[in-house]
Amino acid sequence: MSKRAYNFNAGPAALPLEVLERAQAEFVDFRGTGMSIMEMSHRGKVYEEVHHEAESRLLSLLGNPEGYKVLFLQGGASTQFAMIPMNFLTEGKTASYVLSGSWADKAIKEAKLIGETHIAASSEADKYMSIPDLSSIEIPDNAAYLHVTSNETIEGTQYQQYPKTGNVPLIADMSSDILCRQFDATQFDFIYAGAQKNLGPSGVTVVIAKEEMIAESPKHIPTMLRYSTHLKNDSLYNTPPSFSVYMVNEVLKWIDEKGGLAGVEQANRKKAGLIYDIIDSSEGFYRGPVDAGSRSMMNITFRLASEELEKQFIKESEQAGFIGLKGHRSVGGLRASIYNAVPYDTCKALVDFMTDFQKSHG
Ligand code: PMP
Repeated sequence: MSKRAYNFNAGPAALPLEVLERAQAEFVDFRGTGMSIMEMSHRGKVYEEVHHEAESRLLSLLGNPEGYKVLFLQGGASTQFAMIPMNFLTEGKTASYVLSGSWADKAIKEAKLIGETHIAASSEADKYMSIPDLSSIEIPDNAAYLHVTSNETIEGTQYQQYPKTGNVPLIADMSSDILCRQFDATQFDFIYAGAQKNLGPSGVTVVIAKEEMIAESPKHIPTMLRYSTHLKNDSLYNTPPSFSVYMVNEVLKWIDEKGGLAGVEQANRKKAGLIYDIIDSSEGFYRGPVDAGSRSMMNITFRLASEELEKQFIKESEQAGFIGLKGHRSVGGLRASIYNAVPYDTCKALVDFMTDFQKSHG
């Protein structure tokens, strides 16, 4: 087996080795067809089986919530930022958003291009170092939906609980924490996620939504941007990203084998605990800037005393074989992204490196 890197990339990110090996084994000759999955028609039986397997596996991991459908779309989560208001922000309505960080901000900016928007709660004043206090949340009566970003990948914050919105549909961008823990999918009317962190490779965006929410779309928007088009055609209106969907199916199988969401949650808590512990017990050498109650289990952000020392940390960590620990360019600092597929031993290796680094620079 080739040596695997200590990969902490924020996305595209580490995939389970078992999945990569399985894909490798059937790469050239998929299920005895004499061709790879990338070379066959998306209208053929073999691909369709994989496509439907992925859909039903995803719903099954969520406990088969009644009335929900899965869509496989393209254009990344960023296209969803626009498609959501295009489909749901109809005449006389307001799109309500929780402004929790850089990705929520991007989602709001797209919605503003489409119609009237409203900020229901914000942690901007806190430099997004916490998830906004949801007890004071204000949702207008004419809200088309409330949009939340369940995990802010750049700042490293994550919801621990979601707001209750009554009759107003709740929409979540779960790009960076989907399937990282157990949750009740029926709280949401619409969930979306780019696959390239917890679900598979880039190229496919997953939507899990109440069928009634996506059954009808405004007729003035282009066909490809209507959810109803993809629902009616079972995400096969045009050529789907077939290889990515196949990989998602394999990752979902792997999650099943790990004990489903309960299994991965347990592993993720252990991994995140290990790294946060070393930050908290470093007597200020490492500093977690995020509010304790909003810490992400997926993207752990931390700082050192100076930017010079942070640069040194990145340099030495790269020399030691650690990839992707530099914080996002917009916020600086350091970030360890530890999605489902990042093994415990990789996190342990990081913690050992952090301990040594403190010894030599503390
Ligand atoms: N939302 C969140 C929370 C993200 O982390 C990202 C990507 N890092 C996006 C949206 C944008 O996703 P994409 O690149 O698939 O458009």
